[in-house]
Amino acid sequence: MTSKSTFKIAVITLFPEMFTALNFGVVGRALKQGISELTYLNPRDEATRNHGYIDDTPYGGGPGMIMQAAPLLACIRKADKIFPHAYRILLTPTGQPMTHEHVKTLSQHRELIMVCGRYEGIDQRFTDLAHIDLELSIGDFVLSGGEIAAMALIDACIRQQPHALGDAQSAHQDSFCEGLLEAPQYTRPKILENKTVPSILLSGNHAAIRQWRRKQALGRTWQYRLDLLSRLKLSSTDQALLSDYQSELNQGEEHE
Ligand code: SAM
Repeated sequence: MTSKSTFKIAVITLFPEMFTALNFGVVGRALKQGISELTYLNPRDEATRNHGYIDDTPYGGGPGMIMQAAPLLACIRKADKIFPHAYRILLTPTGQPMTHEHVKTLSQHRELIMVCGRYEGIDQRFTDLAHIDLELSIGDFVLSGGEIAAMALIDACIRQQPHALGDAQSAHQDSFCEGLLEAPQYTRPKILENKTVPSILLSGNHAAIRQWRRKQALGRTWQYRLDLLSRLKLSSTDQALLSDYQSELNQGEEHE
């Protein structure tokens, strides 16, 4: 059921069928419950040439085909009528690298339009004329189309919607929420092929568990994502936890 607070997304894509991949798990449930709603507009339906062609050869030469601006502009103008307050996103490898900060900000909007390119990309005049608010990339690699990038963004934004997750705390404890990677997680059994669960997690001492998790999160981020750690101003307690982690790691390596 649609309500004022429904998180509505119009996707402009040649392949709306691909988005059935979102009909599973947390996101699938959120869509069924009306927490979020997806609408599709297909540039093929707006083709100005015979046989639904919406691409053409690049001016100046070069390989492949380029999506024409006009069918995409027709889609965005239709989307505007449905979602007049929408924020417009173009998925492109030349965009800003997508981060948790983008997801947090975008998930606050109630209406988004996402544009998925195909072929060798899109005529630049579409981007200029469509008043795109944000160009986003999901990484320094090239996909065949924007659909998988849009699905990644939709999934991440829907997770942030109130009531989308069974436990509202989950989204706040995930990696990146506090600028750190998440601490390692364990579940049954206690021993697996001689590997035991860290004993602190079985202690029932919640303060000690919180501190252990914080230390692991700081340590992991230091080990694997120094770029994230360097953006944070660590408290003296965090610095002490990180030093602890580093000495434990050194001791572990000396014993190997
Ligand atoms: N020739 C383009 C270039 O080198 O930048 C790549 C075009 S790509 C084959 C076709 C479409 O896939 C793009 O228009 C964009 O919508 C999407 N795409 C590809 N890689 C992407 C990425 N890393 N992030 C977001 N979208 C991407």
